[in-house]
Amino acid sequence: MNPIFSALQTSVFEVMSQLARETGAVNLGQGFPDDPGPEDVRRKAAEAVIDGWNQYPPMMGLPELRQAVAVHYKHWQGLDLDPDSEIMVTSGATEAIAGALMALVTPGDEVVLFEPMYDAYVPLVRRAGGIPKFVTLTPPHFGLTEEALAKAFSPKTRVVLFNNPLNPTATIFSEADLDLLAAFCNRYDAIAVCDEVWEHVVFDGHRHVPVLGRPDMRERTVKISSAGKIFSLTGWKVGLVMAAPAIMRVLAKAHQYITFTTPPNLQAAVAYGLGKEDGYFEGMRADFQRSRDRFATGLRDLGFQVLPSAGTYFLNLDIAPLGERDDVDFCRRLVTENGVAAIPVSAFYAEGAVKNVVRFCFAKRDATLDAALERLAERS
Ligand code: GLN
Repeated sequence: MNPIFSALQTSVFEVMSQLARETGAVNLGQGFPDDPGPEDVRRKAAEAVIDGWNQYPPMMGLPELRQAVAVHYKHWQGLDLDPDSEIMVTSGATEAIAGALMALVTPGDEVVLFEPMYDAYVPLVRRAGGIPKFVTLTPPHFGLTEEALAKAFSPKTRVVLFNNPLNPTATIFSEADLDLLAAFCNRYDAIAVCDEVWEHVVFDGHRHVPVLGRPDMRERTVKISSAGKIFSLTGWKVGLVMAAPAIMRVLAKAHQYITFTTPPNLQAAVAYGLGKEDGYFEGMRADFQRSRDRFATGLRDLGFQVLPSAGTYFLNLDIAPLGERDDVDFCRRLVTENGVAAIPVSAFYAEGAVKNVVRFCFAKRDATLDAALERLAERS
């Protein structure tokens, strides 16, 4: 058996969701909204299943979806993308990340990762033969420093895997952070694989800044987006990949041997959805922001120390003021004794550098959030 995979634990999201099911806990662990997603987009998918064609679509994605991606990202992020040579559709952002690592990393190359990071990153980097080099970000700001980047980068750096807005911290990197990242990528001739799946889930008037939009990064960036996050349809697994043609040609080779294509009906619905009026996207942000504020206020009223949430649908608690030293133990007790599932943020660190932060998903109906708050209030 491959030792890389046999040594792995079951994903923390699966573990917590399973525990939540067993205990009947309110599940604020694994990040998924309980909103059913926009009805018109779901109807388009249903119609496409019944009336459309259900055979293999083109390997790079439906032409109408690639066109819609170009229009959408021009409108929202000012990107100029050629739908034929710079856009590809994958079966979810995770496939895009896995494929990018397989395509771009040669065994022995170094890959810079920013921890806390999504739990799939390290196993995928290792399986691609990459050597992870960590930049450790710490609360409450989780920002970059030149010293930390200088330690992580080397002439062997091939890829930087960068998630902005950042899951689990709910932070957004500043323009100064992006400048630093770009300077290091250019100095060391590295490619930035940018997981920007939370780009539409940003609050307080923020506008997402894509790394691919920087002239100094245009030829060395892979931008990865997710229809699942854009439309609150996390099970759809429709990933959108954008990169300059020279990189895209290599990414396409990986994609053709991983999944080859993505369900055409879902692609057709996403193509429709990306063209929805601005009000839809603004409304989604406003709804999430309202849930964030409701939950944050409830937690603060209970005396919890809430960390800022600028984007993503997560909210973090600092549990150190509660006298708690171990987030895993805290989450285990929270789900079994109090009936609320959350995610220990140490699971997002390679060596558990930070153990006092716990992540909650607030993309839930008011009644669900209120039920969680009631249970937290009873914490002894
Ligand atoms: N992206 C989701 C989260 O961060 C989890 C997805 C998964 O279960 N692997 O909660």
